Amino acid sequence: MQIARHTVASIDYTLTDDDGNVIDSSNGGAPLAYVHGMGALIPGLESQLEGKRKGDALKVRIAPADGYGERDEQMVARVPRTQMPKGAQLELGMQLEARGPDGGQVVTVVKLEDDAVWLDANHPLAGVHLNFAVTIVDVRAASAEEIQHGHVHGPGGHHH
Ligand code: ZN
Repeated sequence: MQIARHTVASIDYTLTDDDGNVIDSSNGGAPLAYVHGMGALIPGLESQLEGKRKGDALKVRIAPADGYGERDEQMVARVPRTQMPKGAQLELGMQLEARGPDGGQVVTVVKLEDDAVWLDANHPLAGVHLNFAVTIVDVRAASAEEIQHGHVHGPGGHHH
């Protein structure tokens, strides 16, 4: 069976940046299982997996536009410490959940000043080329329920 819309694909993968640093990997864990064609993975990866079969291996380099987007410097903001939660122990690189009008947003502390904090709302992988090494472990048809829920049930997925 080939990977197509509404199949469940299980993949082993390693994600590295252009310097070879491992950002994420399924190594040592269960393969990642997802329902194909429903936006579960970044678009640039799903399109390359389309049509692949169990046992296929591929390497994919994905530009930021097809990954987590380009960096937007407008999304870096200086926030007075008086507006930060009282007693917050802030450190460089720390990620915080900020509440905005559109719900929760993860921001990264990128600079600390005596009276202010610089927060970056870009995705940590925005502007990064993503290098995936993927092996397809299994492909099967998704159940009607999985298609309805948009996620995989059973091994590697939800149990409910
Ligand atoms: Zn479900």
